[in-house]
Amino acid sequence: MRKLLIVANLKSYKNENEAKNWLETFKKINELSLNPAQKEVIVCPSFTQLFSFSSYFSSNNINANLGAQNVSPFDEGAFTGEVNAKQIKDFATYVLIGHSERRKNFGETEDMLAKKVQLSLDCGLNPIFLVQGKDNIIPQGVKIVAYEPVSAIGTGNPDTPESADMVAGVIKMNRSELMVLYGGSVKSVNVKGFTERSNIDGVLVGGASLDAQEFIKIIENA
Ligand code: PEP
Repeated sequence: MRKLLIVANLKSYKNENEAKNWLETFKKINELSLNPAQKEVIVCPSFTQLFSFSSYFSSNNINANLGAQNVSPFDEGAFTGEVNAKQIKDFATYVLIGHSERRKNFGETEDMLAKKVQLSLDCGLNPIFLVQGKDNIIPQGVKIVAYEPVSAIGTGNPDTPESADMVAGVIKMNRSELMVLYGGSVKSVNVKGFTERSNIDGVLVGGASLDAQEFIKIIENA
């Protein structure tokens, strides 16, 4: 059976108290008795919450893994304000790289993204590399790609499962080892349409994951 990845991107939301409430609801994930070899769940909170999420996940045996939403394009050093891959690796196993919000608002270039991927791989962090279409450059070493058309992010207008499946198929054409996720306005009511497609190996969920109950439903329905 094909393995699915279900990823929550909590973006720049949730202060400490809101994050605690989210976790208290999210812990119901353990009642789903998921087999991580079939459905793996990954939660990407803000940097400031990685430590508390990681402590909560360990002390409650939460059946999910953690990811960061970004990583520095530099190794450790005099780079004020940056969080490097080694620092993230203490708390998380995955990292999102190349989100369209970062490409657009923070001027992230292909060169910068390739550096982020390399530094992440060097310390054993798994990059989830986001592309906005079938023609984006995917750096060597990447094993998980998320296809997120900009028009579908946060708009309530997802791509069609047919089109997303076609793009995922093209991405896999020369790189059959890749897992390809779909992201963009995924909700509990439409998730299955994507995950039942043969080229789509899971989903990346932004807005709908902010409600832990809805995210649990997405995991169940995927
Ligand atoms: C995202 O930000 O990666 C995303 C997919 O957002 P949304 O689900 O809100 O469209």
